[in-house]
Order: sequence, then C-alpha cells, then structure tokens
Amino acid sequence: MPLLIAGTPELKKELLPKHCAGPNLSAFCLTEAEAGSDAGAMRTTAKRVGNEYIISGTKQFITNEGVANPYSVFASEQPELRNKGISCFIVPAQTPGILAALIKSNDWSSRMNYYDR
Ligand SMILES: Cc1cc2nc3c(=O)[nH]c(=O)nc-3n(C[C@H](O)[C@H](O)[C@H](O)COP(=O)(O)OP(=O)(O)OC[C@H]3O[C@@H](n4cnc5c(N)ncnc54)[C@H](O)[C@@H]3O)c2cc1C
Repeated sequence: MPLLIAGTPELKKELLPKHCAGPNLSAFCLTEAEAGSDAGAMRTTAKRVGNEYIISGTKQFITNEGVANPYSVFASEQPELRNKGISCFIVPAQTPGILAALIKSNDWSSRMNYYDR
C-alpha cells in the first residue's frame, strides 16, 4: 500500500508486477513499543550512507512478519520533525540484519502474530 500511494513510477514498475504475479504477502511495519497511535514517537532511524540506508530499530505487532516479502518499513530520517521526518522503505525480507521473531505472551495482540504464521 505505501508503494501504491507514494512509490516512484520506477519503483512501482520494478516491484508491483513481480509482487502481483504470485501468492505474495507484504507487511506494513510501523508500530513500535513506544509508538502505536503516536507514530511520530518512533525510534527506528534511517541514516543515509553513500547510496544506501542503514535502518536501525525494532517493530512489533507486525501482521505476516516472518512470511512477508518485502516489508514496508517506516523509519525516521529526522526524529526531531516527528511525523514529518518519517520515510517508508521497501525492504526485501532477505536483507542481512533483519530478525523476525515471535513474541509469546498472554497479550491478545502478540498472540495474533502467532496465528498469522
Ligand atoms: C491484530 C493486530 C494486528 C496488527 N498489525 C499491525 C501491522 O501489521 N503493522 C503495524 O505496524 N502495526 C500493527 N498493529 C499495531 C496497531 O497498529 C497498534 O496497536 C495501534 O497503532 C495502536 O497502538 P498501541 O497498541 O501502541 O496503542 P496506544 O497507541 O498505546 O493506544 C492505547 C489506547 O489509547 C487510545 N489513544 C491513543 N492516543 C490517543 C489520543 N491522542 N486520544 C485519545 N485516545 C488515544 C487508543 O485509541 C487506545 O485505545 C496490529 C495490532 C493488532 C491488534
């Protein structure tokens, strides 16, 4: 959905046909422990290094985590701007450094992640 709304024409042309060709799932990765309704409080950052970005942070309650590819990951390039500093990155699931883990608890929301698998 973020790609449809705000992706460049080049990115849409590259990713959408492949994604729509098969039974693929993607995931919307916004929520964090301290940033649910208040997305501007997110702590995940994106730092540009040359032609790449380094994204650092932890998301939670992500539907389809672990089976989705790619992930739409929201991260802040300018945390002081809160909501206006946030960008969305299309991140292939096989990108080195991503760990998708199931959190087991008695909390209803966390158990939903289990049922999604
Ligand atoms: C089944 C399920 C699937 C999910 N899947 C995804 C997913 O795929 N990707 C993803 O990024 N997130 C996902 N989430 C997370 C979901 O988007 C967040 O739970 C939601 O944004 C609320 O955040 P929170 O749980 O931290 O609650 P909080 O933001 O802490 O809110 C707690 C309560 O306070 C109320 N509240 C908050 N702010 C205000 C305010 N300013 N004024 C009045 N009331 C307020 C809320 O309405 C709520 O009742 C999922 C959640 C569930 C339950």
